[in-house]
Amino acid sequence: MKTKYNRRDFISAAAIAGGGIAVGAPYFSFADDGKPAILGGSKAKADSFTNWPLFNETEERALIDVLKSGKWGRLNGKVVAGFEGEYAKLLGVNHSLGVSSGTSALYTILGALDVGPGDEVIMPVYTFIATYNVAVLNYALPIFVDTDIESFQIDSTKVESAIGPQTKVLMPVHIGGSPFNIDHFLQIADKHNLPLIEDACQAHMAEWKGKKVGSFGLAGAFSFQSSKNLNCAEGGAITSNNADFIKTCYNFHNQGQGGTTTSFGTGTGTRGTNLRLTEFQGNILLAQMTRLREQAATRDRNARYLTSLLNEIEGIEPAKLYEGTTAGAYHLYMFRYLKEGFGGLSRDKFIKALQAEGIPCSQGYGQMNKDEYVTGLAKNKHYLKIYGEKRMQEWLEQNECPQNDKLTSEQSVWFLQYMLLGNQSDMDKIAAAIKKIKKYAKQINSL
Ligand SMILES: *Cc1c(COP(=O)(O)O)cnc(C)c1O
Repeated sequence: MKTKYNRRDFISAAAIAGGGIAVGAPYFSFADDGKPAILGGSKAKADSFTNWPLFNETEERALIDVLKSGKWGRLNGKVVAGFEGEYAKLLGVNHSLGVSSGTSALYTILGALDVGPGDEVIMPVYTFIATYNVAVLNYALPIFVDTDIESFQIDSTKVESAIGPQTKVLMPVHIGGSPFNIDHFLQIADKHNLPLIEDACQAHMAEWKGKKVGSFGLAGAFSFQSSKNLNCAEGGAITSNNADFIKTCYNFHNQGQGGTTTSFGTGTGTRGTNLRLTEFQGNILLAQMTRLREQAATRDRNARYLTSLLNEIEGIEPAKLYEGTTAGAYHLYMFRYLKEGFGGLSRDKFIKALQAEGIPCSQGYGQMNKDEYVTGLAKNKHYLKIYGEKRMQEWLEQNECPQNDKLTSEQSVWFLQYMLLGNQSDMDKIAAAIKKIKKYAKQINSL
Protein backbone atom coordinates (compact mmCIF):
# COMPACT_ATOMS: atom_id res chain seq x y z
CA MET A 1 0.00 0.00 0.00
CA LYS A 2 1.03 3.52 -0.68
CA THR A 3 1.07 5.37 2.61
CA LYS A 4 2.80 8.67 1.94
CA TYR A 5 1.96 11.46 -0.45
CA ASN A 6 4.95 13.10 -2.04
CA ARG A 7 4.79 16.67 -3.32
CA ARG A 8 3.87 15.67 -6.87
CA ASP A 9 1.01 13.49 -5.69
CA PHE A 10 -0.26 16.41 -3.72
CA ILE A 11 -0.17 18.72 -6.72
CA SER A 12 -1.85 16.08 -8.82
CA ALA A 13 -4.57 15.53 -6.23
CA ALA A 14 -5.06 19.29 -5.95
CA ALA A 15 -5.33 19.52 -9.73
CA ILE A 16 -7.90 16.76 -9.82
CA ALA A 17 -9.90 18.46 -7.08
CA GLY A 18 -9.59 21.75 -8.96
CA GLY A 19 -11.02 20.08 -12.02
CA GLY A 20 -14.05 19.06 -10.02
CA ILE A 21 -13.42 15.35 -10.34
CA ALA A 22 -13.13 13.32 -7.21
CA VAL A 23 -11.00 10.24 -7.63
CA GLY A 24 -9.56 7.99 -4.99
CA ALA A 25 -6.04 6.77 -5.58
CA PRO A 26 -6.43 3.14 -6.52
CA TYR A 27 -3.19 1.29 -6.32
CA PHE A 28 -3.40 -2.09 -7.97
CA SER A 29 -0.86 -4.74 -8.39
CA PHE A 30 -1.55 -6.74 -11.50
CA ALA A 31 -1.33 -10.21 -10.06
CA ASP A 32 -3.66 -12.04 -12.45
CA ASP A 33 -3.62 -14.74 -15.06
CA GLY A 34 -1.09 -12.74 -17.08
CA LYS A 35 -3.42 -12.50 -20.06
CA PRO A 36 -3.53 -9.26 -22.08
CA ALA A 37 -6.59 -7.11 -21.39
CA ILE A 38 -7.66 -7.38 -25.02
CA LEU A 39 -8.00 -11.15 -24.46
CA GLY A 40 -9.99 -10.70 -21.26
CA GLY A 41 -7.16 -10.40 -18.73
CA SER A 42 -6.85 -7.45 -16.39
CA LYS A 43 -5.21 -4.20 -17.40
CA ALA A 44 -1.51 -3.69 -16.78
CA LYS A 45 -2.39 -0.17 -15.67
CA ALA A 46 -5.82 0.06 -14.06
CA ASP A 47 -5.54 3.61 -12.72
CA SER A 48 -5.03 6.58 -14.99
CA PHE A 49 -1.88 8.55 -15.60
CA THR A 50 -1.34 12.02 -14.11
CA ASN A 51 -3.71 14.79 -15.15
CA TRP A 52 -2.46 17.50 -17.47
CA PRO A 53 -2.13 20.40 -16.88
CA LEU A 54 -1.21 20.41 -13.21
CA PHE A 55 -2.22 23.51 -11.30
CA ASN A 56 -3.18 24.80 -7.89
CA GLU A 57 -3.66 28.09 -6.03
CA THR A 58 -0.54 29.50 -7.66
CA GLU A 59 -2.28 29.65 -11.04
CA GLU A 60 -5.50 30.86 -9.45
CA ARG A 61 -3.64 33.76 -7.85
CA ALA A 62 -1.77 34.48 -11.09
CA LEU A 63 -5.02 34.99 -12.98
CA ILE A 64 -6.75 37.01 -10.27
CA ASP A 65 -3.72 39.26 -9.80
CA VAL A 66 -3.68 40.25 -13.45
CA LEU A 67 -7.44 40.62 -13.52
CA LYS A 68 -7.46 42.95 -10.55
CA SER A 69 -4.52 45.00 -11.83
CA GLY A 70 -6.64 46.10 -14.78
CA LYS A 71 -3.50 45.74 -16.94
CA TRP A 72 -4.37 42.84 -19.20
CA GLY A 73 -2.15 43.38 -22.22
CA ARG A 74 1.63 43.57 -22.47
CA LEU A 75 1.48 47.16 -23.65
CA ASN A 76 -0.15 48.05 -20.32
CA GLY A 77 1.64 45.86 -17.81
CA LYS A 78 4.99 44.31 -16.94
CA VAL A 79 4.15 40.63 -16.48
CA VAL A 80 4.99 39.39 -19.99
CA ALA A 81 8.27 41.31 -19.87
CA GLY A 82 8.97 39.66 -16.51
CA PHE A 83 8.23 36.24 -17.94
CA GLU A 84 10.57 36.92 -20.87
CA GLY A 85 13.39 37.72 -18.46
CA GLU A 86 12.79 34.56 -16.44
CA TYR A 87 12.48 32.33 -19.50
CA ALA A 88 15.69 33.72 -21.02
CA LYS A 89 17.49 33.13 -17.73
CA LEU A 90 16.16 29.58 -17.44
CA LEU A 91 17.30 28.75 -20.96
CA GLY A 92 20.62 30.54 -20.72
CA VAL A 93 19.96 32.92 -23.62
CA ASN A 94 20.29 36.68 -23.75
CA HIS A 95 16.76 37.40 -24.97
CA SER A 96 13.30 35.96 -25.13
CA LEU A 97 10.10 37.35 -26.64
CA GLY A 98 6.65 36.07 -25.69
CA VAL A 99 4.23 35.65 -28.59
CA SER A 100 0.71 34.31 -29.04
CA SER A 101 1.66 30.72 -30.08
CA GLY A 102 4.47 28.49 -31.25
CA THR A 103 3.24 29.04 -34.78
CA SER A 104 3.43 32.80 -34.15
CA ALA A 105 6.99 32.37 -32.91
CA LEU A 106 8.00 30.65 -36.14
CA TYR A 107 5.99 33.09 -38.25
CA THR A 108 7.59 36.07 -36.51
CA ILE A 109 11.07 34.62 -37.03
CA LEU A 110 10.43 34.11 -40.75
CA GLY A 111 8.92 37.60 -40.89
CA ALA A 112 11.99 39.08 -39.21
CA LEU A 113 14.19 37.24 -41.72
CA ASP A 114 11.99 38.60 -44.52
CA VAL A 115 11.38 35.13 -45.95
CA GLY A 116 9.05 35.48 -48.90
CA PRO A 117 8.06 34.30 -52.38
CA GLY A 118 10.94 32.55 -54.15
CA ASP A 119 12.72 31.58 -50.93
CA GLU A 120 13.20 27.99 -49.81
CA VAL A 121 12.93 26.80 -46.22
CA ILE A 122 14.54 23.50 -45.23
CA MET A 123 12.59 21.44 -42.69
CA PRO A 124 11.99 17.85 -41.59
CA VAL A 125 9.14 15.91 -43.17
CA TYR A 126 8.48 14.42 -39.74
CA THR A 127 6.95 17.35 -37.88
CA PHE A 128 3.74 19.07 -36.90
CA ILE A 129 1.99 20.86 -39.77
CA ALA A 130 2.73 24.29 -38.22
CA THR A 131 6.36 24.05 -39.35
CA TYR A 132 5.13 23.71 -42.93
CA ASN A 133 2.33 26.26 -42.59
CA VAL A 134 4.57 29.15 -41.59
CA ALA A 135 6.68 28.73 -44.72
CA VAL A 136 3.62 28.49 -46.95
CA LEU A 137 1.95 31.53 -45.34
CA ASN A 138 4.94 33.47 -46.64
CA TYR A 139 4.71 31.85 -50.09
CA ALA A 140 8.11 30.29 -49.53
CA LEU A 141 8.83 26.77 -50.72
CA PRO A 142 9.11 24.15 -47.96
CA ILE A 143 11.88 21.64 -48.71
CA PHE A 144 11.45 18.38 -46.83
CA VAL A 145 14.36 16.34 -45.54
CA ASP A 146 13.91 12.64 -44.82
CA THR A 147 13.93 11.19 -41.32
CA ASP A 148 16.71 9.35 -39.51
CA ILE A 149 14.60 6.32 -38.74
CA GLU A 150 16.57 5.44 -35.58
CA SER A 151 16.21 8.85 -33.89
CA PHE A 152 12.96 10.05 -35.54
CA GLN A 153 14.87 13.34 -36.13
CA ILE A 154 15.63 15.12 -39.39
CA ASP A 155 18.52 13.27 -41.07
CA SER A 156 21.27 15.88 -40.98
CA THR A 157 23.34 13.91 -43.49
CA LYS A 158 20.67 14.67 -46.11
CA VAL A 159 20.47 18.41 -45.52
CA GLU A 160 23.29 19.61 -47.73
CA SER A 161 21.84 17.99 -50.84
CA ALA A 162 18.59 19.89 -50.16
CA ILE A 163 20.35 23.26 -50.09
CA GLY A 164 20.18 25.29 -53.29
CA PRO A 165 20.70 28.87 -54.45
CA GLN A 166 17.24 29.87 -53.18
CA THR A 167 17.65 28.38 -49.70
CA LYS A 168 17.00 31.10 -47.15
CA VAL A 169 16.86 29.32 -43.82
CA LEU A 170 17.43 25.97 -42.09
CA MET A 171 14.49 25.17 -39.82
CA PRO A 172 15.02 21.74 -38.21
CA VAL A 173 12.77 20.57 -35.36
CA HIS A 174 13.74 18.97 -32.04
CA ILE A 175 11.00 16.46 -32.56
CA GLY A 176 9.50 14.84 -29.49
CA GLY A 177 11.68 17.19 -27.48
CA SER A 178 14.94 15.37 -28.23
CA PRO A 179 17.68 17.43 -29.87
CA PHE A 180 18.39 16.97 -33.58
CA ASN A 181 22.09 16.63 -34.40
CA ILE A 182 22.94 20.18 -33.35
CA ASP A 183 26.68 20.03 -33.97
CA HIS A 184 26.16 18.86 -37.53
CA PHE A 185 23.54 21.54 -38.19
CA LEU A 186 25.79 24.29 -36.80
CA GLN A 187 28.51 23.10 -39.14
CA ILE A 188 26.18 23.11 -42.17
CA ALA A 189 24.73 26.52 -41.28
CA ASP A 190 28.21 27.95 -40.96
CA LYS A 191 29.51 26.42 -44.17
CA HIS A 192 26.55 27.68 -46.24
CA ASN A 193 26.12 30.92 -44.33
CA LEU A 194 22.47 30.22 -43.56
CA PRO A 195 20.52 31.16 -40.43
CA LEU A 196 19.68 28.16 -38.23
CA ILE A 197 16.24 28.37 -36.64
CA GLU A 198 15.43 25.74 -34.01
CA ASP A 199 11.80 24.70 -33.91
CA ALA A 200 11.95 23.86 -30.21
CA CYS A 201 8.17 23.88 -29.76
CA GLN A 202 8.36 20.43 -28.14
CA ALA A 203 11.73 20.81 -26.47
CA HIS A 204 11.49 22.96 -23.33
CA MET A 205 14.52 22.25 -21.12
CA ALA A 206 16.13 19.74 -23.50
CA GLU A 207 19.91 20.00 -23.47
CA TRP A 208 22.82 19.47 -25.82
CA LYS A 209 26.20 19.17 -24.14
CA GLY A 210 24.77 20.82 -21.04
CA LYS A 211 23.24 23.82 -22.84
CA LYS A 212 19.50 24.27 -23.38
CA VAL A 213 18.14 23.92 -26.90
CA GLY A 214 16.87 27.13 -28.39
CA SER A 215 20.22 28.73 -27.61
CA PHE A 216 22.24 27.37 -30.52
CA GLY A 217 20.80 28.88 -33.68
CA LEU A 218 20.00 32.48 -34.57
CA ALA A 219 16.68 31.85 -32.83
CA GLY A 220 14.56 29.18 -31.18
CA ALA A 221 10.76 28.87 -31.24
CA PHE A 222 8.78 27.46 -28.30
CA SER A 223 5.09 26.62 -27.95
CA PHE A 224 2.98 26.92 -24.80
CA GLN A 225 -0.12 25.34 -26.31
CA SER A 226 -2.11 23.16 -23.90
CA SER A 227 -0.43 19.86 -24.69
CA LYS A 228 3.11 21.22 -24.44
CA ASN A 229 5.47 20.70 -21.50
CA LEU A 230 5.06 24.36 -20.48
CA ASN A 231 1.56 25.61 -21.13
CA CYS A 232 -0.77 28.59 -20.86
CA ALA A 233 -3.47 27.30 -23.26
CA GLU A 234 -2.04 29.22 -26.23
CA GLY A 235 1.28 31.00 -26.31
CA GLY A 236 4.84 30.86 -27.52
CA ALA A 237 8.29 32.38 -27.21
CA ILE A 238 11.28 33.22 -29.34
CA THR A 239 14.74 32.87 -27.85
CA SER A 240 17.89 34.44 -29.26
CA ASN A 241 21.32 35.69 -28.29
CA ASN A 242 21.14 38.36 -30.98
CA ALA A 243 19.77 41.68 -29.66
CA ASP A 244 19.13 43.15 -33.12
CA PHE A 245 17.28 40.08 -34.27
CA ILE A 246 15.03 39.93 -31.20
CA LYS A 247 14.26 43.64 -31.68
CA THR A 248 13.21 42.97 -35.28
CA CYS A 249 11.04 40.13 -33.98
CA TYR A 250 9.52 42.41 -31.35
CA ASN A 251 8.62 44.98 -33.97
CA PHE A 252 7.19 42.37 -36.33
CA HIS A 253 4.94 40.96 -33.60
CA ASN A 254 3.83 44.48 -32.58
CA GLN A 255 2.50 45.88 -35.88
CA GLY A 256 5.99 46.81 -37.01
CA GLN A 257 6.51 49.13 -34.08
CA GLY A 258 9.10 49.20 -31.32
CA GLY A 259 8.52 50.32 -27.76
CA THR A 260 5.49 49.63 -25.66
CA THR A 261 3.08 52.07 -27.20
CA THR A 262 1.18 51.80 -30.43
CA SER A 263 1.22 54.64 -32.85
CA PHE A 264 -2.16 55.78 -34.08
CA GLY A 265 -0.57 57.16 -37.21
CA THR A 266 0.33 55.33 -40.37
CA GLY A 267 3.66 54.64 -42.02
CA THR A 268 5.62 54.78 -38.78
CA GLY A 269 6.54 51.12 -38.55
CA THR A 270 8.00 48.24 -40.56
CA ARG A 271 6.32 45.07 -41.85
CA GLY A 272 4.42 43.37 -39.03
CA THR A 273 1.27 42.11 -37.41
CA ASN A 274 -0.17 41.61 -33.91
CA LEU A 275 1.00 38.40 -32.24
CA ARG A 276 1.28 39.67 -28.67
CA LEU A 277 1.00 37.49 -25.57
CA THR A 278 -1.38 38.69 -22.85
CA GLU A 279 -0.50 39.40 -19.23
CA PHE A 280 -2.86 36.59 -18.14
CA GLN A 281 -0.86 34.10 -20.15
CA GLY A 282 2.43 35.58 -18.96
CA ASN A 283 1.46 35.11 -15.34
CA ILE A 284 0.16 31.57 -15.90
CA LEU A 285 3.51 30.76 -17.49
CA LEU A 286 5.38 32.14 -14.48
CA ALA A 287 3.19 29.98 -12.23
CA GLN A 288 3.71 26.88 -14.37
CA MET A 289 7.45 27.57 -14.39
CA THR A 290 7.58 26.97 -10.64
CA ARG A 291 7.23 23.25 -11.48
CA LEU A 292 8.94 23.08 -14.88
CA ARG A 293 12.40 22.14 -13.63
CA GLU A 294 11.12 19.32 -11.45
CA GLN A 295 8.75 18.03 -14.14
CA ALA A 296 11.51 18.08 -16.75
CA ALA A 297 13.82 16.11 -14.44
CA THR A 298 11.04 13.59 -13.72
CA ARG A 299 10.26 13.05 -17.41
CA ASP A 300 13.91 12.64 -18.28
CA ARG A 301 14.49 10.18 -15.43
CA ASN A 302 11.38 8.12 -16.17
CA ALA A 303 12.05 8.13 -19.92
CA ARG A 304 15.58 6.87 -19.45
CA TYR A 305 14.35 4.14 -17.13
CA LEU A 306 11.60 3.17 -19.58
CA THR A 307 14.18 3.04 -22.36
CA SER A 308 16.32 0.68 -20.31
CA LEU A 309 13.28 -1.61 -19.89
CA LEU A 310 12.14 -1.43 -23.52
CA ASN A 311 15.65 -2.03 -24.83
CA GLU A 312 15.35 -5.50 -23.32
CA ILE A 313 12.33 -6.34 -25.49
CA GLU A 314 13.16 -7.62 -28.96
CA GLY A 315 11.04 -5.75 -31.50
CA ILE A 316 10.86 -2.51 -29.51
CA GLU A 317 13.41 0.17 -30.43
CA PRO A 318 13.21 3.40 -28.42
CA ALA A 319 14.19 6.48 -30.44
CA LYS A 320 17.96 6.88 -30.24
CA LEU A 321 19.40 10.08 -28.80
CA TYR A 322 22.34 11.74 -30.53
CA GLU A 323 25.56 11.70 -28.62
CA GLY A 324 25.49 15.36 -27.49
CA THR A 325 22.10 14.94 -25.79
CA THR A 326 22.41 15.58 -22.06
CA ALA A 327 18.65 15.94 -21.37
CA GLY A 328 15.52 15.15 -23.38
CA ALA A 329 12.27 17.11 -22.96
CA TYR A 330 10.20 14.06 -23.89
CA HIS A 331 7.16 15.91 -25.11
CA LEU A 332 6.73 12.60 -26.90
CA TYR A 333 8.22 9.27 -25.97
CA MET A 334 8.82 7.74 -29.39
CA PHE A 335 9.74 4.17 -30.26
CA ARG A 336 9.73 1.83 -33.22
CA TYR A 337 7.61 -1.28 -33.15
CA LEU A 338 9.09 -4.04 -35.31
CA LYS A 339 6.44 -6.64 -35.89
CA GLU A 340 9.02 -9.37 -36.59
CA GLY A 341 9.71 -9.39 -32.85
CA PHE A 342 5.99 -9.93 -32.21
CA GLY A 343 5.30 -12.86 -34.52
CA GLY A 344 4.10 -10.55 -37.31
CA LEU A 345 1.41 -8.80 -35.22
CA SER A 346 0.57 -5.57 -37.05
CA ARG A 347 1.30 -2.20 -35.48
CA ASP A 348 -2.40 -1.33 -35.51
CA LYS A 349 -3.27 -4.41 -33.47
CA PHE A 350 -0.32 -3.81 -31.16
CA ILE A 351 -1.56 -0.27 -30.50
CA LYS A 352 -5.11 -1.46 -29.82
CA ALA A 353 -3.86 -4.13 -27.44
CA LEU A 354 -1.64 -1.64 -25.61
CA GLN A 355 -4.50 0.86 -25.31
CA ALA A 356 -6.63 -1.92 -23.83
CA GLU A 357 -3.96 -2.32 -21.13
CA GLY A 358 -4.65 1.23 -19.97
CA ILE A 359 -1.59 2.59 -21.77
CA PRO A 360 -2.57 5.48 -24.10
CA CYS A 361 -0.54 5.40 -27.32
CA SER A 362 -0.80 6.33 -30.98
CA GLN A 363 1.08 5.95 -34.24
CA GLY A 364 1.91 9.66 -34.32
CA TYR A 365 2.61 11.73 -37.42
CA GLY A 366 1.97 10.42 -40.90
CA GLN A 367 3.51 11.38 -44.23
CA MET A 368 3.16 15.12 -44.54
CA ASN A 369 4.80 15.16 -47.96
CA LYS A 370 2.03 12.92 -49.31
CA ASP A 371 -0.86 14.73 -47.70
CA GLU A 372 -3.30 16.10 -50.26
CA TYR A 373 -3.10 19.55 -48.73
CA VAL A 374 0.67 19.53 -49.15
CA THR A 375 0.89 17.99 -52.62
CA GLY A 376 -1.83 20.44 -53.69
CA LEU A 377 0.78 23.18 -53.40
CA ALA A 378 2.07 22.06 -56.80
CA LYS A 379 -1.25 23.21 -58.28
CA ASN A 380 -1.69 26.35 -56.17
CA LYS A 381 -2.14 29.33 -58.48
CA HIS A 382 0.14 31.58 -56.46
CA TYR A 383 2.88 28.97 -56.31
CA LEU A 384 2.60 28.35 -60.06
CA LYS A 385 2.95 32.08 -60.64
CA ILE A 386 5.96 32.42 -58.35
CA TYR A 387 7.86 29.20 -59.06
CA GLY A 388 6.51 27.96 -62.41
CA GLU A 389 5.12 24.57 -63.34
CA LYS A 390 8.50 22.93 -63.91
CA ARG A 391 9.84 23.83 -60.48
CA MET A 392 6.64 22.72 -58.75
CA GLN A 393 6.78 19.34 -60.53
CA GLU A 394 10.42 19.00 -59.52
CA TRP A 395 9.42 19.92 -55.99
CA LEU A 396 6.87 17.10 -55.87
CA GLU A 397 9.51 14.59 -56.98
CA GLN A 398 12.12 16.03 -54.63
CA ASN A 399 9.74 15.42 -51.73
CA GLU A 400 10.15 11.65 -51.66
CA CYS A 401 11.12 10.54 -48.14
CA PRO A 402 11.37 6.73 -48.16
CA GLN A 403 12.73 6.36 -44.63
CA ASN A 404 9.91 8.47 -43.25
CA ASP A 405 7.40 6.40 -45.24
CA LYS A 406 8.71 3.25 -43.61
CA LEU A 407 8.78 4.72 -40.12
CA THR A 408 5.30 6.20 -40.20
CA SER A 409 3.49 3.48 -42.12
CA GLU A 410 4.74 0.50 -40.10
CA GLN A 411 6.79 1.32 -37.05
CA SER A 412 6.30 4.55 -35.13
CA VAL A 413 4.50 4.57 -31.77
CA TRP A 414 4.17 7.46 -29.30
CA PHE A 415 3.45 7.97 -25.66
CA LEU A 416 2.70 11.50 -24.42
CA GLN A 417 4.68 13.61 -21.95
CA TYR A 418 2.26 13.48 -19.03
CA MET A 419 2.62 9.67 -18.87
CA LEU A 420 6.22 10.24 -17.74
CA LEU A 421 5.24 12.39 -14.75
CA GLY A 422 4.33 9.48 -12.51
CA ASN A 423 6.61 7.12 -10.68
CA GLN A 424 8.91 4.31 -11.71
CA SER A 425 6.20 1.69 -11.25
CA ASP A 426 4.20 3.36 -14.07
CA MET A 427 7.16 2.64 -16.34
CA ASP A 428 7.29 -0.95 -15.09
CA LYS A 429 3.62 -1.33 -16.00
CA ILE A 430 4.17 0.00 -19.52
CA ALA A 431 6.96 -2.54 -20.05
CA ALA A 432 4.87 -5.32 -18.47
CA ALA A 433 1.96 -4.53 -20.80
CA ILE A 434 4.19 -4.77 -23.86
CA LYS A 435 5.66 -8.06 -22.65
CA LYS A 436 2.19 -9.52 -22.16
CA ILE A 437 1.23 -8.53 -25.69
CA LYS A 438 4.40 -10.05 -27.06
CA LYS A 439 3.77 -13.32 -25.24
CA TYR A 440 0.22 -13.56 -26.57
CA ALA A 441 0.88 -12.01 -29.98
CA LYS A 442 -0.43 -15.03 -31.87
CA GLN A 443 -3.79 -15.03 -30.09
CA ILE A 444 -4.15 -11.27 -30.48
CA ASN A 445 -3.36 -11.56 -34.17
CA SER A 446 -6.21 -13.99 -34.69
CA LEU A 447 -8.81 -11.69 -33.07
C1 LIG B 1 3.12 22.64 -31.23
C2 LIG B 1 4.10 22.83 -32.33
C3 LIG B 1 4.12 23.99 -33.11
C4 LIG B 1 3.08 25.05 -33.01
O1 LIG B 1 2.84 25.54 -31.76
P1 LIG B 1 1.38 26.16 -31.42
O2 LIG B 1 1.62 26.81 -30.11
O3 LIG B 1 0.41 25.03 -31.37
O4 LIG B 1 1.07 27.14 -32.48
C5 LIG B 1 5.11 24.11 -34.06
N1 LIG B 1 6.02 23.15 -34.27
C6 LIG B 1 6.02 22.02 -33.55
C7 LIG B 1 7.06 20.98 -33.82
C8 LIG B 1 5.05 21.80 -32.59
O5 LIG B 1 5.02 20.65 -31.91
